[in-house]
Amino acid sequence: MADLIIPRQILDDIIAHAKELTPYECCGFLAGVGNTVTKVYRIKNVVSLEGAVESASFDEAKVSHLSHLSPEERAEIAFIMDSAEMFQAVKDMRKQDLKLQVVYHSHPKDPARPSPTDIKIANDWEESWSQLNLTLPIYLLISLMNASKPDVKAYWIKSGDYTLADVLIR
Ligand SMILES: [Zn+2]
Repeated sequence: MADLIIPRQILDDIIAHAKELTPYECCGFLAGVGNTVTKVYRIKNVVSLEGAVESASFDEAKVSHLSHLSPEERAEIAFIMDSAEMFQAVKDMRKQDLKLQVVYHSHPKDPARPSPTDIKIANDWEESWSQLNLTLPIYLLISLMNASKPDVKAYWIKSGDYTLADVLIR
């Protein structure tokens, strides 16, 4: 059984989201029933906003390299989800009996592979999911490196390491 089934229409929706925000990274959640995705939650990427890195609930030392970059540079290499929108999405999932399945974001100029920053962020979040009574999500990456042929890949990121997740598009 596949880890995740993504309807073609939902895949097209998140690729469109990535294209809309390029050269900045887009981000969001996918939720659904069992292993089938039924809903997209687009979440604002606040990494380009002044102070976002400092106010995020990450260990500051781990993301300190982000602070040295300009807001524009940060938005092209990283994402930090707007926490109010994140919690609103999780609340909506609970109301609709949907399960959080995926955290997605785009790589406007890089391959669909987790960056060192992505792995750090996933690591920082690993405990938060269970504290929120959520299971570990799959991380989905949309690469626009080849603009005419977006590349989408999904991963499990655990304890600082990543492996490909088994995703079926239909
Ligand atoms: Zn990334």
